[in-house]
Amino acid sequence: MYEAMHKPGSFPELREAVLKYASERMDLDPAPLDGPKSLEELTASAGQTITESGLGGLSALRLFSEVLAPATISTDHPNYLSFIPAAPTEAASLFDLVVSASSIYGGSWTEGAGAVYAENQVLEFLADECGLPSGSGGVFVQGGTLGNLSALVTARDVAQRKHGKKRWAIIASEESHSSLKAVAKVMDVEIIAASAPTGSLKRPELEAAIASAESKGLSVFAIVGTAGTTNFGIIDDLHAIGLVCGEREIWFHVDGAYGLAGILSPEHKELYRGIELADSFIVDPHKWLFAPFDACALVYREPALARAAHTQHGEYLETLNEKDEFNPSDHAFNLTRRVRGLPLWFSMATHGVAKYRLAIKENIDLAHKIAAEIRRRPNLKLVRDPQLSVVVFERLGWEKPDYDRWSEELLASGFAFVVPSSHRGKVNTRFAIVNPTTKYEDLVKILDSME
Ligand SMILES: *Cc1c(COP(=O)(O)O)cnc(C)c1O
Repeated sequence: MYEAMHKPGSFPELREAVLKYASERMDLDPAPLDGPKSLEELTASAGQTITESGLGGLSALRLFSEVLAPATISTDHPNYLSFIPAAPTEAASLFDLVVSASSIYGGSWTEGAGAVYAENQVLEFLADECGLPSGSGGVFVQGGTLGNLSALVTARDVAQRKHGKKRWAIIASEESHSSLKAVAKVMDVEIIAASAPTGSLKRPELEAAIASAESKGLSVFAIVGTAGTTNFGIIDDLHAIGLVCGEREIWFHVDGAYGLAGILSPEHKELYRGIELADSFIVDPHKWLFAPFDACALVYREPALARAAHTQHGEYLETLNEKDEFNPSDHAFNLTRRVRGLPLWFSMATHGVAKYRLAIKENIDLAHKIAAEIRRRPNLKLVRDPQLSVVVFERLGWEKPDYDRWSEELLASGFAFVVPSSHRGKVNTRFAIVNPTTKYEDLVKILDSME
């Protein structure tokens, strides 16, 4: 009988087993790092899982826990140091289960008011922390890529209403995130890379980039400042960028997907001077605000501009649009949405902001401490001094195959996940530290493994 699928309590053993699995996963300290398997291996061990009659819940869960889960890397492992890791608090992960069990539609106030109220308090907190005025606001979207797209679509909409259609261009530093190129591509606008020899975009290079855009007949509608590059964790001169944008009436967007969380550390707040001038910013809670995948906080100085650009109109939607209510989906390129800001809200409401400030500061301190150790070792070389919590360094004498072999061995041994990266064509590796359970001693062991 298919009705049983929806009838609460029809599968008590399955409910118990799933909740037990989730609970036990959260108890793992740490969860095994695990690692990928090939398609052939997975086909051999998991086989065909979608069948007409179903495997049964307990079998499917066993298949997941014994075969599929071990073929996925635990991004919250303390020695997962590649890309940008994840480190959700237990409260945030727990509340993600509640969000899943609650079927809340987060697109409109009418449907999601209570949850949207809570999400908006987090967005207001972030806006306030960045010095944006009250009345700022936005929405949690899936990730930084979508956040950047949504903000820049709003920026172009504003420019186009004012100036009509032009050959539009975005300016961002050469070290800005790849998502901006992807955004420019889907928006069919140009992107001009401003040079940033120290890793941080400064005024002279920005002005040179504007001149270069103008000489090509392009109209710059937005400048993106990066608040913590993904490769190096270095912050652009946001103050200078904000002033230039103000002088020229250009939209100032701050991409802080990874690094803007650092503004919560009082000792590091000054690094972000100028963000208060931003027209929009993003920060990903799934990166350095200790929330589970996937969430990007997108905040506008004037949310009405985003609504003008993004609100979808359709016969069945007008009943929502007619009301003077705050509908989160109107602020981004999305419609149906999970209330993905709630896990962060719950964790922040539970623990208070002070603990976040401390945890973030300690990540930065740890990055600087291991950088000092790297400086002391003759076989290693820092590529740049760290500013936030990313440390990039070279093993002198190693070529790409040496890094590859070392990296694969670290993962295979279950100890750490650290992959090669590169800068200006030269191979290196990096530690991206966003996990408060990462230990200095383990980082030292990883350095030892490069002897
Ligand atoms: C990670 C990152 C992005 C993209 O965010 P996703 O959530 O992965 O889409 C954009 N900009 C910066 C600076 C990032 O670090």
